[in-house]
Amino acid sequence: MDMTRIRDRMVEHHVTRRGIRDPSVIEAMRTVPREKFVPPGSEEFAYEDAPLSIGEGQTISQPFIVALMLEKANLDAGDTVLEVGTGSGYASALMSRVARHVYSIERHERLALEAKERFEKLGYRNIDVRVGDGSKGWAEAAPFDAIVVSASAPEVPTALKEQLGLGGRLIIPVGRGEGQRLKRLTRTGDAAFEEEDLGGVLFVPLIGEDAWTATHPMYTATAPSLPGTVASEPSSPHDGQGAGMRKIDKLPALPEGVLDHSEFQQRFWAVQRFSWIVFTLLLVICLLGLLGRGGPFSRQTLLLPEGSVDFPVISRWNAPEDMTVTFTPSSEDRVFTIDPAFLQSFSVQGIDPPQKATFARDGRIGYVFPADPAGPTQIVFRLQTQLPGPRRALIGMGGETRTQSTFIFP
Ligand code: SAM
Repeated sequence: MDMTRIRDRMVEHHVTRRGIRDPSVIEAMRTVPREKFVPPGSEEFAYEDAPLSIGEGQTISQPFIVALMLEKANLDAGDTVLEVGTGSGYASALMSRVARHVYSIERHERLALEAKERFEKLGYRNIDVRVGDGSKGWAEAAPFDAIVVSASAPEVPTALKEQLGLGGRLIIPVGRGEGQRLKRLTRTGDAAFEEEDLGGVLFVPLIGEDAWTATHPMYTATAPSLPGTVASEPSSPHDGQGAGMRKIDKLPALPEGVLDHSEFQQRFWAVQRFSWIVFTLLLVICLLGLLGRGGPFSRQTLLLPEGSVDFPVISRWNAPEDMTVTFTPSSEDRVFTIDPAFLQSFSVQGIDPPQKATFARDGRIGYVFPADPAGPTQIVFRLQTQLPGPRRALIGMGGETRTQSTFIFP
């Protein structure tokens, strides 16, 4: 299934309208198929702006927060980037579309292997994946122009700062639970870093030697936090950021890395499915009401030089219908013709008032009616619908014919 349009809509609604402006990030989000990074069966939810479970108690990042982190990382086409916390590989894939090379490190072997397979299948050849503790960085590949950490650290790990090149940007959530802040550190000198606060976020913990231990309560929690536990972020920017960023800061904390969304997701999906079913039913009922018998658009009129024909646009199968033929005043007999296709759609049950004569000529059936010189003559054909589906036939008055289209509901 081609999800390009759904992806474009997601990018418009959840990325550009929320203040992301970097064209290369936007383009990457339009290109990378997020549905290939979610677990089988969750594809239809790939373009919700929500993190989704990917197993091992981890989540694929929410599109908006990834876009925000990438934009704040100021990625360039020639950049070498490190992602700590590969997860599904989605964020690394996005970065690989913008930067020259991406190194991505993940502590869960299964996630790392699956991400690697995805990159191979999608032909993303500029990403190296490694299983390990990302709080120590990836020294052999350093220095990096940008480092993006997709899990929250108690404080900025020293190794990551050291592996940042001069001018390099490190995007990292710092803090515990709902008190996490997204930070940007820019290396301005050997031991000098400029630090900015980008707002409140909620990520899974960074587990490692230079981070939290594996007994971190958020990591070891088994029950999912339902929406009520996703805090409203009382964030206020520390610096004079632009309007887009201020808007972002007013948003609630981003539920990026809550441990297990399964229960919440299932409830959310059930409500979503139910809403779609109700919406579709209402739509069908409205359409039938509008188009069905008696509705305002239920009939159409064909105009011909010798009169007009009024017949149903939409009918029910095996049900009575009628067609009204109105002849303009005339002192001569009038002829109404139909072709055999018409009789496949409708069988003629009766004609009121009856015809003077019936004839067959050139594969058409003709009905002759005496017309009235003083006024119009109205003839009602009482019909019964035949074959269901869209039907077309030729009807005529005198020498003129018109195509008549009808839909007969099964
Ligand atoms: N960016 C990912 C994506 O787009 O799918 C999602 C990242 S997920 C929110 C955080 C990831 O960080 C998890 O997969 C987790 O296992 C990983 N992680 C946590 N601590 C880590 C560490 N010390 N080193 C490497 N990965 C770590």
